[in-house]
Amino acid sequence: MTRHALVALIISALVVAAPLAQKNAPAKPGGNAKLDALKQEAVADVESRTQFAQQMVDQIFSYGELGFQEFETNRYLIDILKKNGFAVQEGIAGIPTAFMATWGSGKPVIALGSDIDCIPQASQKPAVAWHEPMIEGAPGHGEGHNSGQAVNITAALAVKKIMEREKLPGTIRIWTGTAEELVGTKAYFVRAGFFKDVDIALFTHVGENLDVSWGERAGNGLVSVQYSFVGETAHAAANPWRGRSALDAVELMDIGWNFRREHLRLSQRSHNVITDGGDQPNVVPRTASVWYYFRETDYPHIKELWETGDTMAKAAAMMAGVDLLPTKVLGSAWPQHFNKAVAETTWANIQKVGLPQWSDEDQQLARALQKELKNPRAEGLRTKLSDGLQGPVRENTGGGSDDIGDISWNVPTVTLRYPSNIPGLPGHNWANAISMATPIAHKGVIAGAKVQAMTLLDLVSRPELVEQAWKYFKDVQTKETKYEALIRPQDTPAIWLNKATMDKYRPEMKKYYYDPSRFKNYLEQLNIKYPTVRTTAP
Ligand SMILES: [Zn+2]
Repeated sequence: MTRHALVALIISALVVAAPLAQKNAPAKPGGNAKLDALKQEAVADVESRTQFAQQMVDQIFSYGELGFQEFETNRYLIDILKKNGFAVQEGIAGIPTAFMATWGSGKPVIALGSDIDCIPQASQKPAVAWHEPMIEGAPGHGEGHNSGQAVNITAALAVKKIMEREKLPGTIRIWTGTAEELVGTKAYFVRAGFFKDVDIALFTHVGENLDVSWGERAGNGLVSVQYSFVGETAHAAANPWRGRSALDAVELMDIGWNFRREHLRLSQRSHNVITDGGDQPNVVPRTASVWYYFRETDYPHIKELWETGDTMAKAAAMMAGVDLLPTKVLGSAWPQHFNKAVAETTWANIQKVGLPQWSDEDQQLARALQKELKNPRAEGLRTKLSDGLQGPVRENTGGGSDDIGDISWNVPTVTLRYPSNIPGLPGHNWANAISMATPIAHKGVIAGAKVQAMTLLDLVSRPELVEQAWKYFKDVQTKETKYEALIRPQDTPAIWLNKATMDKYRPEMKKYYYDPSRFKNYLEQLNIKYPTVRTTAP
């Protein structure tokens, strides 16, 4: 045997022996067989928690709580986390329905977050492919925020088990995207310092595919502002000249804004609702309020829109002869910017996990709903991952917002999207609730949890990844743009919002809370056939 051949023989013997030798060794940086084995183990563990995840998805769906009123959801999640060894800080940042749970010790600190609130008027029977509310007028999970905590908690428990056994250092945090539909809390979490010691934020949000992106994301940031006016009442017929109408100011402001709209940038979005329009027609309205969302692609343009709104409110008050009260910021969101290194790591894991295997029933429900909504192509659920990792948006023409933007400008962050919803839906609508307590949502959550678990393992095993993430954050993302909160020092979380609505509907909704001790899943409890689709044209 030549010396060369001997060396080759020794190397091959070492390679064969390596998995055995590594069995009890701590994970080494650089991505290796040991890490891959741990990931496989985590994936199998997530799979074994399918029922646990399904129950969480169904339970939170049945609670259907609006932003700032997520009391049942919070209690439920906190109990699960405490039972599983997490220490929980409740009511953080002055928000009764927000928490931060912690397990583990040392670096890295990885924060897993997802939203929990629902949508007004989106009450809907799951798995029924047309509009059929559970309770007419009630809120419901018409965005799918009932599913994200299951992704994170299922992943965290699988990884926690491995970290304990392997004695891997690291801290897992789990936190709530409370009142996301009001973009109401994440800037307050930042202000209260809850992300100061966090190394990486892994956020997750329901979607229609399994994906992730880095760089500037399409869409807008926003500020949400309430304008309230005060005038004087009078008999609207006998002495109208004695009254000063606050509602006049609201209407004048809205008219002014709608004229100005023509001359605003194409990327802006702005909309309003009148939250107080007076009491009754024969009493000149003494008080009136209008609530605006001002959305733009970056901080300076959001501020500019906001200033225009403030000017109009003042001018409208002058025209109506009423007073403008100090304005209230009800919510805010920075535009989203996601981390390159973390997105690349997540994307590699997405490719390994792939999309769920959809059943014929899953596809039938998806197509029936798409047809119901008159989508030209009822193409069903996604069966292919996107072609590659998505980078920064090329031309941002504006769109929705998420206050995860605020976190993303303070800590390297990505949002993992998982396929629990049906493509081609309007959003913020009963239709988006239909899949959310069905096998579609459950399978999407398991796929998401597998990716999240693998990425968590990457982050706790490969310190160089955390370094790369911060390098991008410091040298690229925040090189020129510095975070400045949109909330002002005098603003506080708008925790009174939605209370009246929940008080109105909760007693009736309670009758439909999911009881996992009696029913395998929520569809079984509601006695709904899966899927329920039209057999004749509507
Ligand atoms: Zn959302």
